[in-house]
Amino acid sequence: MIEYKLTNKRKIMFRKPMTFMERIYLPAVLKGMAITLSHLFKKKATIQYPEQKRPMSEVFRGLHILKRDEQGAERCTACGLCALACPAEAITMTAAERKPEEKKLYREEKYASVYEINMLRCIFCGLCEEACPKAAIFLQNDVMAPASFEREDFIYGKDRLVEPLKLN
Ligand code: SF4
Ligand code: SF4
Repeated sequence: MIEYKLTNKRKIMFRKPMTFMERIYLPAVLKGMAITLSHLFKKKATIQYPEQKRPMSEVFRGLHILKRDEQGAERCTACGLCALACPAEAITMTAAERKPEEKKLYREEKYASVYEINMLRCIFCGLCEEACPKAAIFLQNDVMAPASFEREDFIYGKDRLVEPLKLN
């Protein structure tokens, strides 16, 4: 019978017998402990989030904010361009007409009585910000939508989106 081989090169492997020091494992244990101890004095790679936060990049796109003007009136005029530009269909709104006594609250005659963003749909692309003709919506570069176990927590309404009033 002919035996075919791929190659005639052959290397016989054998396990090297352990030295005395290797058999007592002590040097290996000490080496491991030295590595562990050295990590105590190194700069930590982890941080205590959410108490501690890392500085974000200038171009980071985080949670949205609906801005007010210099007088504190809401800038959004419920034109719907942000919702139209949104590729994830994450924005919904209801427009309402401003009453004469609400001039201080809303800058334009039309405003969003309901404005919601579904953060589970949002891909933080920033197209809503680019589409807005009133400079009303921005994506903040230092705030993220916090994690939650409840689906409803990711529907952000005006209560969480509108910029807080600046008190003088
Ligand atoms: S950031 Fe993008 S995906 Fe999110 S609401 Fe704006 S347009 Fe839609
Ligand atoms: S945020 Fe801007 S684009 Fe969106 S509805 Fe308001 S004014 Fe229009």
